[in-house]
Parts: sequence; C-alpha cells; structure tokens
Amino acid sequence: MKRLILISLLLIAALAISQPATQAQSKKDKNNPPKVSLSVEKAAAEFGNVEGITAAQIRDFLTFIAADELEGRDTPSRGLDIAAKFIAYNLSRWGFKPAGDNGTFFQNFGLRRGQVDKDQTKVELAGQTFKAGEDFIPRPAVKTATGQLVFVGHGWVIKSKNINAYEGIDVKDKILVVSMGLPKGVQQGDLTGKLGEDYESVYSYAAKHGAKGIVNIPRSVQLTSWDASARQAFSGGRVVLETGKTDDSLPEIVASAKLVNAIFQGEAIDGAEMLKQADSRDLAASFALKADKKITIDVKGNVDTLPTQNVVAIWEGSDPTLKEEYLAIGCHYDHVGVRPETDNGKIDGWSRYKAFLQSAGRLGGADRLWNGADDDGSGTVAVMAIAEALAKGPRPKRSVLLVWHAGEEKGLWGSDFVTDHPPVPAKQIIAQLNIDMIGRSKKAGDSNSRNANLTGPDEIYVIGSKMMSSFLAETSEQVNKAYLNLNFNYKYDDPNDKERFFYRSDHFNYARKGIPIIFYFDGVHEDYHQASDHWDKIDYQKMEKVTRTIFATMWKLTNSPTRPKVDQPLPPQLRGN
Ligand SMILES: [Zn+2]
Repeated sequence: MKRLILISLLLIAALAISQPATQAQSKKDKNNPPKVSLSVEKAAAEFGNVEGITAAQIRDFLTFIAADELEGRDTPSRGLDIAAKFIAYNLSRWGFKPAGDNGTFFQNFGLRRGQVDKDQTKVELAGQTFKAGEDFIPRPAVKTATGQLVFVGHGWVIKSKNINAYEGIDVKDKILVVSMGLPKGVQQGDLTGKLGEDYESVYSYAAKHGAKGIVNIPRSVQLTSWDASARQAFSGGRVVLETGKTDDSLPEIVASAKLVNAIFQGEAIDGAEMLKQADSRDLAASFALKADKKITIDVKGNVDTLPTQNVVAIWEGSDPTLKEEYLAIGCHYDHVGVRPETDNGKIDGWSRYKAFLQSAGRLGGADRLWNGADDDGSGTVAVMAIAEALAKGPRPKRSVLLVWHAGEEKGLWGSDFVTDHPPVPAKQIIAQLNIDMIGRSKKAGDSNSRNANLTGPDEIYVIGSKMMSSFLAETSEQVNKAYLNLNFNYKYDDPNDKERFFYRSDHFNYARKGIPIIFYFDGVHEDYHQASDHWDKIDYQKMEKVTRTIFATMWKLTNSPTRPKVDQPLPPQLRGN
C-alpha cells in the first residue's frame, strides 16, 4: 500500500491543501455558478423564444416606466394610469387578448376614501355625549345609527371549528360590541372555504342579520397607539379597497377605555374585565346588554370612491385542451408616488410639478419623487419583455395570464381584488410566477451595510417554490440548471423568516387561494423605498438573465403534460396572520 499509501498520502495532502481551495471554490461557485451556455438554437428548442428577451429591450421599457413624468406611479394617480396605458398600448400591438372589463386590458376596482368630520362626529350613550378622537375613533363609514347593545365576543362563525359567537343571540337592529380579532387558538388559515358560507366575520354576519353598527373593544396595543390612530383617522382620509370584505356599510368605532366602561356599567361584567379579556382572548359568552341602554353612533363627513385598475392580458395556448389552463405571471406596476414640499399641508398642481422638476434635476432642491425603478419597475418591464417574446415566438400549449397589479404598496390591493375576481377560473390557474424587484445586484467590494442582503449579478432569491408543489420546485430547479444556472438563493424561503417576504408581495394572495407560486426577488438595498431608486442604477444584464430564466420556467410549465399538483398544504403560519 505504500505507494498507494504514498500516493494516497500525496492525495490526502493534495486534498488537504485543496480543501480550503475547494471550499473557496464552492463558495465562489455558489456566487458564480458555472455558466451553462446553450446555443441560441438549443435554447429556442428547449425554452421557446427565450432569447427574444434582451437587456436593451428591458432598458427601453424601464426608462419610460420609471421616468419622473410618471410621478412614482402612486395608487391611484395619473402617473399610474399613464403606465397602464403604456402597457396596454404595447399589449395591443403584440396581439394579446384583453382580459379586463368590457374587452379592455383594464380590470377596474374601487378605492374608497372616507373623510370623517371630527367636530360633527359624536357618540351618545345614556344621555352622555362622547367626543371623537378622545373617547372613540370612528372608521371612515359616514353613517348614523341608534340601537340597543349586544356583546358578541370575537364575532366569528367558523363552521369547521364549531365556533358560533351568535348562539342564542338576536342582533337585528342592534349595535354589536365586539372584541376584535380571531378566537383564541384560531389562525387565519383556519378560515377555509367561502366567507358568508363556511365562515362569517362580524361584518358579514352583521350585514346579513340586520345589525345597525359596530363598537370595537380595543386591545392594550391599540390603547397604547391611540393618539397616532386618532390622528390618522382624521388626517385626510384612509383609502381602503372596495371589496365588501371590510364591510364599512355600518357605522363603526373603536371605543376608548372610558367608553367601554360606560357601555358595561351596571352589566354582569364590567368594562375593566372586558378590556382584560380583549387581550387574553378568554372571552365571556355573548349576551345582550340592558334593554334600556341605547347608544347612538353619529359619524359625519364625506366619502368618495375613485377607480383604479389592474392590467390583465391573456396569451392563448395552442393545445385545444391544455389552453384551458393558465400559467399566471405577475408584478406590481405601482409605487409610492411623489411627496412634494407643501407650505400649507395641501398638495396642489404647482407643488407637484415643482417636485417633478426637482426629481428631474431641472430645479434645485431635494428629490421628492419615488421613481420605483427596481420596486417594481423591474418586474413591470420584465413581464412586458416576456409578453413581447411570447408574441414573437412559438405558442406554448397552455395559456399565459399576465397581471400587472395596482395598489401593492398600499396593501396588495390589486392581487387581493384579482384573486377574488379572477378573469379566468382560479382552479384553472396552474401556478403564479411573481416578480418584485429583480433589477439590482451587489457589486464586488460593496461594504454598504444597506446592501448586505442584496443578491449578486448571477443570483436571485427564490421564495415559495418548494412550499406547495414539489413538481413546481423541481421544474424551477431543473430549468435553471439546464439554462443559465443562476444562484437560486433560498435564504428567505423559510416560513419562519422574520423578514416575512412571503407575505409582502402579490404572490401571497394567489397562494392563499391554493395556487402554487414562485416569487423572484433581489433583496432590499440602499435605494429600497428611496427617491433614489432610479433606472440608471439597474443591472440590465442581470435582469436579462433572471427574466429569461422566468420565461424558460413559464415555457416548461405551459408545455408540460402534467400541471403542478399541490402536494404540500400551505404551512399554517403562512396562511396570512
Ligand atoms: Zn415591490
């Protein structure tokens, strides 16, 4: 064995020497995975018109979408509408099928802004008048109601859990006193099935059974942030999505401790106990309060509703059967807009234009326009590039549904609406690929701590691909390995991740509907949600690679004989707390 030994000794020595090298090598590989270069022909044969996507094409689109003239594409705003028109104009030129309202590419939905008048708004109880902001905080439903009071605990009915807060209680024409929040031990994910059928919220139950108003008993966390919430309630109106889920057709308030005490005065359980139970969630059984005790909730002000839109389009598949199934690809085309300097708190045309000129560098002063080039201008134009490449190449067997969501920054509004009102039956959507920020890369030697988690030029965070469908996970990996072999970083692909990125973009609303998703994300960086998130900082070579990889994944999924099967139920903690 000597020689061998010797040889093996030499080998071991070589290995020992090489160990650090290979570790360094594998670390290097991890950040610079070996390049797989398929010839154009092979790539086309394998992945369709994937090479129809180019850095130049993406850059052209982004210089428009992230231009100052679009004023940061707030929801709702003219800049957002111009972006929508630009996308639709191109979709029409490429021959896409409109999937919006009335044969357009626009799926309209309403945003309601309730402006409550603090001085005129009041609550009366047992001859006492309570002041808005001090003794209660009104929700922006400009309504008035008077009625007897009924305590309804947490206010939920959850058939699958045998929970019914209204057992033996009649709520017709009553004002409901509710301890907001889920019943003890219940997760959002337990609300399976349909609202109004399999489970009821206090809103849906109140509306269905003719209750007249809602009084919320606050938790201590709400009492601590009372002043901030009160300021916000009267600060120019909270804009909410018009969905019917957060039903504000009834006058509704959050009561202060003082008002809770007044409400439960002389009842079997006093206000102090009710406030304690609101935190412990060990709630008393529902009961009607004394019949002679009536409350009036009188919320004055004005409400207006403004429309905005998702942009939705379909590229029909070639297979007579499989074309009935859809692979959804999405992004959000909104960002957070412009925050002009104001001298009277009011934003007018003059101050808006000034902010535009400042951002464009044509006037001195701070840049107060959030261009959102990476967030999510990059996703917006990546989906446009995928659309153009689809239109100029062979047709896949299944169909492709493209959705540019509005209102993501405001609370995933667009995806909330489109997944509640899908342009095609939700069960025919085989998966959703969501793109939110893929345009930035960490440069070698970058020591800026705010770029600590930014991915490299050949790297992207992949989130959610393994959570619901092993077929989807495998396909995603196989395509990447067979094509550009980017470094797929799964750091945030963890249900317990404290950054909660799984919750923080539009794919979440698809996953909640049981549709398996893949979320592509480059990581937060120094310009994240800053006015400095500009198109000239984008790594277009990276965007080309990531967008081509997403196109290739779409191509495989739309041509695969089988569709991804949901073989892993969504981890409970990801069902939307
Ligand atoms: Zn975003």
